[in-house]
Parts: sequence; C-alpha cells; structure tokens
Amino acid sequence: MTKRIFRSIGLVAVAVFAASLILILGALYEYFSAGQMQRLATETALAARAVETEGRSYLESVKDADCRLTWIAADGFVLFDNRADEAAMENHLEREEIRQALETGEGQSQRLSSTLMEQQLYCARRLSDGTVLRLSANQLSWWSLLVAMAQPICIVAVLAIVLSLLLASRLSHRIMAPLNELDLDDPDRTPPYEELRPLMARLSAQQNQLKSQEALLEHRKNEFETAVSHLSEGLILLGETGTVLSINPAAARILGVTRACEGKDLLLFCNTPDLRDLLHGAMAGRHTERVMTVRDRSYQINASPVFTNGKVSGLSLMIFDITEREKNELTRREFSANVSHELKTPLQSISGCAELLEGGMVEPQDVPRFAGRIYDEARRLMNLIEDIIRLSHLDEGSSDPFEKTDLFEIASRMVQELTPQAEKAGVTLSLTGEQSPMTGVPRLLSGIVYNLVENAIKYNKPEGSVTISVVPEGQSVVLRVADTGVGIPPEDRDRIFERFYRVDKSRSKEVGGTGLGLSIVKHAAAIHRAGIRVESTPGVGSVFTVTFPQEVRE
Ligand code: ADP
Repeated sequence: MTKRIFRSIGLVAVAVFAASLILILGALYEYFSAGQMQRLATETALAARAVETEGRSYLESVKDADCRLTWIAADGFVLFDNRADEAAMENHLEREEIRQALETGEGQSQRLSSTLMEQQLYCARRLSDGTVLRLSANQLSWWSLLVAMAQPICIVAVLAIVLSLLLASRLSHRIMAPLNELDLDDPDRTPPYEELRPLMARLSAQQNQLKSQEALLEHRKNEFETAVSHLSEGLILLGETGTVLSINPAAARILGVTRACEGKDLLLFCNTPDLRDLLHGAMAGRHTERVMTVRDRSYQINASPVFTNGKVSGLSLMIFDITEREKNELTRREFSANVSHELKTPLQSISGCAELLEGGMVEPQDVPRFAGRIYDEARRLMNLIEDIIRLSHLDEGSSDPFEKTDLFEIASRMVQELTPQAEKAGVTLSLTGEQSPMTGVPRLLSGIVYNLVENAIKYNKPEGSVTISVVPEGQSVVLRVADTGVGIPPEDRDRIFERFYRVDKSRSKEVGGTGLGLSIVKHAAAIHRAGIRVESTPGVGSVFTVTFPQEVRE
C-alpha cells in the first residue's frame, strides 16, 4: 500500500512537472518569438533609414548579414534580395507584411517561406519613395529552444524528481502511519480517517458475530468434553493418518497412555498386532471389531471409519470393558454344564434302580430300600430343580417389589418350619432378638434365613445347636446364624458362595444339598444391598452374619 501511494504521488509529481515544463516552454517560446520580432522591427527601421540615405549601395554592403533583406518596388517586384535571385522571385505584392506596409507604413507576419522553405519572421517598412524594405529571419524553433534550455531543464528535472520522490515517500508514510496503528481488535474506536468508518463498523459487527460463534463453539466443546470425559467407555478420535485428535480419560486409562498422546500417532504408544489390524481395517473403510486383553481385563474395541466426500477422513474408536460380560458368560456356561451333570446323576440313579426293579432282579426284602433310594433321588432332583428355578429368577432380576416387613418375624416362621428337620438331626434351634422392621422382599428374606439355618442344621454334629439372632443395629438389621457344626476350612470360605461348590461333596449329597443354597443367599443379599460375613473354625462351628440396611432405595 505504501509503495502504491508512493508510486501514485511520484507519478503525479512527474506528470505535473512535465505539464509545467511544456507550459513554461510554450510561454518562453512566445516570449522569445515576440522579442525576435521586436528586434527585427528595430533592425528594419534602421536599415530603412540607411537605404533611404545610401540607396542600393547600403544593401550591397550588408549582403552577408545574418538576416535576409528584400527590397520590393511599390508594384511588388523584388528589386534586391541578399539570399535569392531577385529576377527569379515572384511578385511580392500579395505578401501580408508587404500589403500592410504599403497600406500603413509597417507590416509584420510569420509563415513558412515559399522561397527558403523555412519558418520565417517578416518585418517590412515603406520607404519615402514608396518602395518597401523587408527584413526576415529564421523563427526560433521549439527544438532549438529545447536544446538551448537543455541544461537548466535537466537541473530543474533532477531537483524536481528528487524533491517529488522525497515528498512522495514522506507523504505515503504519513498517510499509512495511522492505518498501521489501527487497532483491529477494537474497531469501535474512532478511525483516523472518516472514510474508514463503514469498514470499521463492518469489522466490529463481524468480530461480534465471530465472538458469539466462538462462545457457542466453546460451549458445545465443553459440553462434548464433559460428556465424553464422564463416559465409562473409552472413546478415541483419530485423523486419517492415525493421529490422535481426542482421547477421553477412560480410553487413556485402558490403554495406559496419557492425554499427551494427542496430536501423535496412536501406534507410537500402543503398537499391538490387534490394534494395528483394527486400524488398517477401519482405514480401508470397514467397521472393524477386536477383543483385546489388557492387564487381565477384556476389552472390545469397535473402530468405525468417518467418511468425508466418500473418503475416509478419520476413525472413531469405542472401547468397552467386557470383562464382566465374559465372566458372566463363562459362569453361565459352567452353570449349564454343572446343571446337566447334577441332573444326570440322580436321574441315572433313579433309572438304574427302576431298571433293576422292573427286571425282577431285586430280592423282595430289598425292594423298600430301592424304592427309598428312588424317592430320595427324586426329592434331590426336585430340590435341585427348585433351586435352579429360584436362581434363574434372581439372575433375570425378576424380584417382587420391596415392602415393609420384619426380619425377626420371618426368622420365627423359618425356625418353625425347620424345627422338624432339626429335631430329626438331633440339633437344637433357638431364636433370639427383637422386632426388626425393614424394607425388603419377604420371599427372598425367607430364602436367606431358610438356607442359612438349613445349612447350619445339615452341617452340624449330633446334639449340636443352632442359634439365630435378629437385632436392629443403628440403621441396619443384623441376622446371625451360629452353629456348632463341622465348620469350613479357611481356603474354602470364599468359594462356598459359588454355584455347585461344596466343601464335602459326599456329605452335601448325603444331607440332600444341591450346592446352590449359598448362591441364592448371596444373590438375594445383594438385591437387599446386604453384606455377608463368614467366621468359622473347622470342627467347632460357623457363624454367618448378614447385615441389611433398614431402608433400601430400589
Ligand atoms: P449345599 O446345598 O451343598 O448345602 P450350599 O451352597 O448351601 O450348598 O453350601 C455350599 C457348601 O458350603 C456346602 O456344601 C458346605 O460344604 C458348606 N457349608 C455351608 N454352610 C455351612 C455350615 N453352616 N457349616 C459348614 N459348612 C457349610
């Protein structure tokens, strides 16, 4: 811009200089021409006087003068000419200066000489005898004027150019200085030039618009980041070359990287064959999935390509922790296998006994024993099926609604129900405690008490005892089932809640155990947000303590 202004000012200065030069030269030309004519007139007057006194001899004496002298008779015929042959010259009566001189005594004109073919100045004077003396000289030409003035013109031109360049430079800088100092961040301030006001107003409006858009974008970005950072699933956005554009804390934690990997290639931080395959697949435009194991946990990574104008412009990676899902699937598979096995054993036994009875291969006195065996196995089968059904109901989450109930009353009913079984086993049952109101699912609470008390009877010693206590403790209700039974070895204590886990398999079968009772207890307790503690001393007895919160918010 400065250069442009400088150039424009320079051009204007040069143009003004050239125009002034032409005007001055024109004026000078006029001035010199007038002077020349004046001089010619004076010389003509002097020569006329000399011719009047000396006649032709004077003319002969100045034949070689600088100017041309022509003496013309009153009828226009040329009497003398110091530059041309007067005999060959045409009649001069029609020449303007001659006509004027004959009429008024003096005449002047300027024109191209038909005799000399040059631009001439003419001055004529009538003599006393009626003849006319004319002097003529070459008129000063533009070119000769220019040549004569060349030196001063050059000096003035150089001075003018230097001055105009200096002036142009200073002016352009002075014009530009306020523009360079414009504060574009604050366009509302009064602009240095009035002409800039609409531009600054527009700039201000655009800046306000940009600011509000920026604020909106920032707001959206914060919303996105907040949502993404609270995701329990990992989310990674990659550019088309695999550069990490964004990674949420969950993904960083899972892959064991920090957010410093943003802007760098993901494979630099986590270069496993699975991840490489996954990225290659997704970059080729396919939705790709892989299951990866990181630090003993299983993750499913889904990579989806992002398309822009039909080309892959990035990838989005979602990482799901499927450890629990896989564990549950494994448990379910094991459970199914165990169920089949557990069902098969009593069925085989029943079918074996029935076959022997049918074939008449059993002595009559042994028939009741075989029938009793079939009855026991059938009961076991029914117990097993009932427990499986209960457990699958709990697995499906189908539970009755929570209601106000009293655990002490539930425990009293269960004790009543189990008293015959206890008497049969020679075990004493006793219930202590007080009214313990709480919210819960009575059916599940009954199941918990029933299973714990039944186990305490089943795994007891003859003449042993089972003490049940239900008491409210602060915000909790505590159920304690203590027995004087066989106890549980420490290494088995954590596993007794697993499905089909038994410490002593044959004893469990002997007492009609299914291996599912404590699993049902664990499940039902979890629904009530209750904690279970087991204390046991092998050979001495066990204490199962279940602590329920009085109020459970579903
Ligand atoms: P089961 O139907 O075999 O009793 P449970 O799931 O109820 O199955 O119990 C799992 C195992 O835990 C039992 O087989 C038994 O070995 C042990 N067990 C449970 N309760 C007691 C207890 N009160 N005393 C000793 N062992 C117990």
